[in-house]
Amino acid sequence: MSPARVPLILRPTPLHRLDRASAVLGVDLWIKRDDLTGFALGGNKGRKLEFLVADWMRRGVEVVVSCGAAHSNFLRQLAAACQIAGIRCEAAVMVTPFDQTAGKPEFDAPGRSGNWLLTDQLGAHLHFYPDDDWEVLYGHMETLAQMRREAGERVEVVPVGGSSALGAFAFVEAAEELTETFDQIFFASSSGSTQVGLATYFAGKGTEVLGIACDPEPEIAGDFAAISSELHTFNPDLPALRAEDFHLDFGYVGDGYGVPSHAGTEANEWLVRHEGIFLDPIYTAKAFAALLDRARKGKLANKVLFWHTGGIPSLFNA
Ligand SMILES: *Cc1c(COP(=O)(O)O)cnc(C)c1O
Repeated sequence: MSPARVPLILRPTPLHRLDRASAVLGVDLWIKRDDLTGFALGGNKGRKLEFLVADWMRRGVEVVVSCGAAHSNFLRQLAAACQIAGIRCEAAVMVTPFDQTAGKPEFDAPGRSGNWLLTDQLGAHLHFYPDDDWEVLYGHMETLAQMRREAGERVEVVPVGGSSALGAFAFVEAAEELTETFDQIFFASSSGSTQVGLATYFAGKGTEVLGIACDPEPEIAGDFAAISSELHTFNPDLPALRAEDFHLDFGYVGDGYGVPSHAGTEANEWLVRHEGIFLDPIYTAKAFAALLDRARKGKLANKVLFWHTGGIPSLFNA
């Protein structure tokens, strides 16, 4: 049984073969177009938000408090979903939050353009803090939420990227849209709902679900296992996966989260010039760089799906 939903996206998103790319790479390459979800300029977060928003409305949530980078695709789509639901949206943001262990990357961060501009237009209230570690950002989010609670409002704290059991469930359902079977599925992986959902659906089915990490934090596999365990509690028919069940490649993060990589820039140019399809510099270009690299090394399976998760506004970061 499916949880309650507020319809936001156009489904199924298109699934089509990349004929020219397939011919050049010598593989059977397909693409799933979640860049074309049709909601607030597209992207994978619309899928999660359909279930999240329905849940918030049912519980009478008045204000949603989240966090992320100023250029977050999630905050853009969250802001739009909140407007549709009549819920206020506030977020703790840093221009480029980073992982303390990996260190702060050298990066000339873009200003109020791309997603940041759109999230402002969508009416979200962004509270800015100086760049720091993600844990510090989560702390600011909690403080904001506490202030709203003390003001007597019904507050929902939404984890970064909207990853949760409901978020992951959206991708179990998304996998059911595929009308072809594949040996391998490539996609950009970050907060985890996409990978948890797809890995859950394909568990034991012989399709490799390969997340290309966009954060330099190997411990995210543990976070994915925690989301999976919540998903299993929510729907006991779905298997609980362990950290080691998640196939993640950390080889394409580049200098850090939110920082474009050379290989990614090249991958975007390659796909644009072979298929007229754009990738974003933060997520999908890094994932497609991994696919191209394996294709060139002859390490790609025969029939491969690239799941395009969106992020197009970041092409306009200036
Ligand atoms: C959020 C996002 C991802 C990662 O999805 P998760 O479910 O958070 O792992 C990948 N690509 C784009 C464009 C995104 O915005």
